[in-house]
Amino acid sequence: MAIPIPSRQLFIDGQWKQPVLSKRIPIINPSTEQTIGYIPAATAEDVELAVDAARKAFFRDKGKDWAAASGAVRAKYLRSIAAKITERKSELAKLEAIDSGKPLDEAAWDIDDVAGCFDYYADLAEGLDAKQKAPVSLPMENFKSYVLKEPLGVVALITPWNYPLLMAVWKVAPALAAGCTAILKPSELASVTCLELAEVCREVGLPPGVLNILTGLGPEAGAPLASHPHVNKIAFTGSSLTGSKIMTSAAQQVKPVSLELGGKSPIVVFEDVDLDKAAEWTAFGCFWTNGQICSATSRLILHESIAAEFLSKLVNWTKNIKISDPFEEGCRLGPVVSEGQYEKILKFISTANSEGATILSGGARPEHLKKGFFVQPTIITDVTTSMQIWREEVFGPVLCVKTFSTEDEAIELANDTHYGLGAAVLSNDLERCDRISKAFQAGIVWINCSQPCFCQAPWGGNKRSGFGRELGEWGLENYLSVKQVTQYVSDEPW
Ligand code: NAD
Repeated sequence: MAIPIPSRQLFIDGQWKQPVLSKRIPIINPSTEQTIGYIPAATAEDVELAVDAARKAFFRDKGKDWAAASGAVRAKYLRSIAAKITERKSELAKLEAIDSGKPLDEAAWDIDDVAGCFDYYADLAEGLDAKQKAPVSLPMENFKSYVLKEPLGVVALITPWNYPLLMAVWKVAPALAAGCTAILKPSELASVTCLELAEVCREVGLPPGVLNILTGLGPEAGAPLASHPHVNKIAFTGSSLTGSKIMTSAAQQVKPVSLELGGKSPIVVFEDVDLDKAAEWTAFGCFWTNGQICSATSRLILHESIAAEFLSKLVNWTKNIKISDPFEEGCRLGPVVSEGQYEKILKFISTANSEGATILSGGARPEHLKKGFFVQPTIITDVTTSMQIWREEVFGPVLCVKTFSTEDEAIELANDTHYGLGAAVLSNDLERCDRISKAFQAGIVWINCSQPCFCQAPWGGNKRSGFGRELGEWGLENYLSVKQVTQYVSDEPW
């Protein structure tokens, strides 16, 4: 489907600005491999301008700055943004689908979640007013103490391409709700809807400089942003490799960071499950959004007694998934985001094969699709724990399988990873599920499901999946600092 891509510039200080060096990056439609437009490519020169605008908005004349506005005032803006996004839902969903390869239905759900996230943080912004000056109980009567929660300042928000607008808004909404001003740097592989967010902010009259949006490459735009001395915090979602670089750069300035990184999450399936339902959750947990989900449950740990029957159901299930252009009716899997990602996924599959694993189903481009970055949902068995496919994140529709016989063995396999983002257990024995939830080394646990995500509940990982939590109240705390105020209240000399 041809849908016009709006031509946009960088969004700095409430205005569209051409990049200082006039660089640009092509937008490739992953279904057709055609160039369908360009995004501006920011460099260090534009970062300077954006940080300057965000600082001015944060420190503007007393009483007029974003930080000093009450939570209720900030909430009003967030609600207007949510309403505008809902108004433009159909167009935004189409842009997301054509830019990222997501099926149109899924893209539309994402846009609903985006609006919901702004509304949710509008509520929390209002709640923040009432939480100021919370008293601290002290052991001495001649002192009294309270706590102020204050915005951290200018924050850099660097995000990936898998949920282009939603991942950005998981950061933008709480940062603005907290009273921070922000510079968003979305992924160069899918920035179109983030630039539309800029247009929405302009239309609702968000004060200039409160949110600045710089599209561009990681090393050219992201790195100078992360290392800018006037950026007070970095919130990053992306690969563990880039997260580690960002942490190194932040360490040099002792700057706080929150990192939402990669994963290799397990799904443990016990013998007492309903096999059809469990197969559906397993397929959904790994193949939804083409497996391009940080928390995709891409390691299936399966009780040996049901392995043959379960895998046969799973293979049937995946064969019925409709793979097509995201705009086709009934599409469940579109292309993966880019040629680089397509090549990387196929390389993972061929390495698994050459290391001795069995490609049980999928493993290649679907025959009926000659163009575009399409990959079949792939199931790999005969996997050992030393294989690359077991250890490394593919970020594609690839599930690897190992069997177990005892609960202890299942837990050991589940935790056999450097990552610690999500983990799922499927069993009808809820006491067992509780035990396993405690044993999982992960930030998010699902019982009898995989992947549901709610903006009220904390999201984030352990180990190399990062630290800090997004969403819920935890997401707001990411952008607040705690100030202790203590007063001497006695007439007696100290
Ligand atoms: P990436 O690390 O390549 O890029 C992420 C962002 O960082 C992009 O905006 C990129 O331009 C920027 N960047 C790259 N190099 C940089 C540098 N040196 N300095 C500053 N910024 C730089 O990741 P990706 O390929 O866009 O996304 C996929 C990864 O994201 C996967 O590993 C996935 O698991 C992870 N992810 C995690 C979560 C989570 O919640 N934990 C959510 C979504 C995606």
